[in-house]
Amino acid sequence: MAYRIQKDKCISCGACASQCPVGAISEGDGAYEIDPNVCIECGACAAICPVEAPIQD
Ligand code: SF4
Ligand code: SF4
Repeated sequence: MAYRIQKDKCISCGACASQCPVGAISEGDGAYEIDPNVCIECGACAAICPVEAPIQD
């Protein structure tokens, strides 16, 4: 399953988007978002996130 970002935790720092190797993360309304059709489940976003917002869905 793809990763997803918990909207209530994300502080929109943008760190995950620059780490994602496939460009699956973009800035959404109030939080960053992962395109589940693009995510390859590498876990880089979860590793870099300061607030542990990305989780495996
Ligand atoms: Fe991108 Fe990897 Fe996070 Fe998926 S798990 S959104 S591929 S950084
Ligand atoms: Fe949100 Fe975490 Fe990504 Fe920062 S690294 S934009 S807090 S999900």
